[in-house]
Amino acid sequence: MIFTFLGTGAGMPAKERNVTSLALGFPEYDGELWLFDCGEGTQRQILYTSVKLTKLSVIFITHMHGDHLFGLPGILGSRSFQGAVTPLTLIGPSGLKSYVETSLRLSGTHLHYPIIIREIETEGKVFENTHFTVYAGELDHGVKSYGYRVLEKDQPGELLVNKLLALNIKPGPIYKEIKEKKQVKLSNGQIIDTAPFIGGKRKGRCITVLGDTRPCAMAAELAQSANVLIHEATFDGQSSRLAHDYHHSTSVQAAEIARKSGVETLILSHLSSRYQKKEQNALLREAKAVFNHTYLAHDFWMFELKRPSRM
Ligand SMILES: [Zn+2]
Ligand SMILES: [Zn+2]
Repeated sequence: MIFTFLGTGAGMPAKERNVTSLALGFPEYDGELWLFDCGEGTQRQILYTSVKLTKLSVIFITHMHGDHLFGLPGILGSRSFQGAVTPLTLIGPSGLKSYVETSLRLSGTHLHYPIIIREIETEGKVFENTHFTVYAGELDHGVKSYGYRVLEKDQPGELLVNKLLALNIKPGPIYKEIKEKKQVKLSNGQIIDTAPFIGGKRKGRCITVLGDTRPCAMAAELAQSANVLIHEATFDGQSSRLAHDYHHSTSVQAAEIARKSGVETLILSHLSSRYQKKEQNALLREAKAVFNHTYLAHDFWMFELKRPSRM
């Protein structure tokens, strides 16, 4: 899976960082694409990347603040202009449905594809498809702000065809049975255990994308043992008072959550425009002092999380 950071700033657009949006692409699954948040100008940011709106199938909104939301109606319209006809699912807090429907209605925007809008009512499972299950939990941001934990399903092992052929078990319906059952009966009446003919399974990956938040127990829970955690870092380590007052986190607090939850990689995003390049480096440095495997995202940066090898 490939993360493309479309906007990594907080509050309002700055020259260097647009407001928040993150594309998550799955080249391993037909190039399917998801979006997490959609700040104003996201569709313009997309023009500078290889992200294709026609491939977009799900948009997760973490919360209803404008820097995470105001780009949404434009994206929906442009996806239609570009000829998309496949359904698009939108998932987010209550109010999302009325925001989207009102924007589309008042602007006379007609979509040539169906949209499914799911407002989250309770924490827990909010989405599932063939390959992934997504869970949402409520964070601490003054307004309803969700974090999403994306869990890839484990992939069963492949059939070891050469081993079967060596025993003169030829391809046919029996192969399907061997994949699905613990024991099968061959045409000669012999009963065999199937386990030796199935390769190692591949463990699913886990990524966590959090909305804006103060440090909280749910953040750590959603991030538990994740391969990648995307966490806001609106403020630097010295500004924990400010961060608390505005319901945000410092880069050091993000790193503490990463350490506590045993993640593999932490990526910091959602930086206040008050920090210039030099200060941004300091913000990363102080996070790394707490959790070393930390990156600081910038607009258009791409990060790849490879599939683990089979067990
Ligand atoms: Zn924000
Ligand atoms: Zn916010």
